[in-house]
Amino acid sequence: MDLIQLLIIGLLGLAVIVAGTIFLVRRRMLPPAAKRKELPAEPTPSGEEPSVEPGAGTDAGPAAPTLERPEAPTTRMARLRRRLAGSNNPLARGLLSILSSDRLDAEVWDDFEATLITSDLGVGPTQELTEALRRELVVDGVSDPAQAKAVLRRELLALVGPSVDRSLAVEGADGKPGVVLVVGVNGTGKTTTIGKLARVLVAEDKTVVLGAADTFRAAAADQLQTWGDRVGVPTVRGPEGGDPAAVAYQAVQRGIDDGVDVVVVDTAGRLHTKTGLMDELGKIKRVIEKLAPVTEVLLLIDATTGQNGLIQARVFAEVVQITGIVLSKLDGSAKGGIVVQVQRELGVPVKLIGLGEGVDDLVPFEAEAFVDALLSD
Ligand code: GDP
Repeated sequence: MDLIQLLIIGLLGLAVIVAGTIFLVRRRMLPPAAKRKELPAEPTPSGEEPSVEPGAGTDAGPAAPTLERPEAPTTRMARLRRRLAGSNNPLARGLLSILSSDRLDAEVWDDFEATLITSDLGVGPTQELTEALRRELVVDGVSDPAQAKAVLRRELLALVGPSVDRSLAVEGADGKPGVVLVVGVNGTGKTTTIGKLARVLVAEDKTVVLGAADTFRAAAADQLQTWGDRVGVPTVRGPEGGDPAAVAYQAVQRGIDDGVDVVVVDTAGRLHTKTGLMDELGKIKRVIEKLAPVTEVLLLIDATTGQNGLIQARVFAEVVQITGIVLSKLDGSAKGGIVVQVQRELGVPVKLIGLGEGVDDLVPFEAEAFVDALLSD
């Protein structure tokens, strides 16, 4: 074998080694076709709603999520009315005990008054109702239970205010959105109620933008955004600890730019000092009104907090002009009399009531339905 033959054999051997190495390296980098086909689809957390920040993100991401269709307020009424009635309700119990007494003596009336007081009706309304009933049932000699119940219904309805305008002012003027500012102490159910309110508005075919101006709790903005996402409502939020008024301003600006019907703005409910609160809420309102008038200021009151809730309500009413009250948590052990007392204290109507933690458990307040629920057994 001469030198040339040896060289050729050596080169061929080298070529085989190089080709083999390249083949092996490529095999390692690329999974086999069969294996690739087996890759599972993107996992979705079971039971969770798909979430999207509408308007955000331009990537060709996942397909548009299916949005929920909230229940129309009219169909909620019947279901929710039942929750107000029943044995949990001291007002209903007190009224019914009167109707079932054989003799309406002083003791019965004392018990009746005590029950009304414990149902958070307030001293003034309790005395008025008791006097009116005594006059009609005793003096006028009403003994028929059905007739007595009718008297009760009429007197109670007069206290609640059957002809008060309780509609939400959500209509904007001059092509601008209506602006709803929601205020109240933390924990009363503000964020949840705004989420539910967004659903009520969407159910009425209104377009909505939410403003997360409670910048003191990151969780509040997250919570609000989750509510909004579920019904395709965008949430404008700012950095944690940022200026709440700036977020409120941006939310209303977004509402104007997008041509939506209503902007609902959440606020922080820290009762640190009255001046602090006044400065904060006053500034938010002033800043918003550079863009559009605030059409509704809703004060959240937790119905289970009784007198405490009223004291807080008074402070808020002093710092910002409230136009409507939302009573949350009127389900469960809440005492319905608070409706009368809070309206009388603040001179502002109850417009919405929260009757549970369900997503559609927010109902427009109707005096007649409320009184009927209280009197139903
Ligand atoms: P915020 O701090 O004022 O924003 O209060 P949240 O919206 O976080 O609500 C506080 C708690 O109250 C949550 O657990 C809500 O689910 C609950 N909540 C709100 N509204 C109602 C209601 O009408 N009924 C009941 N039972 N719970 C409610």
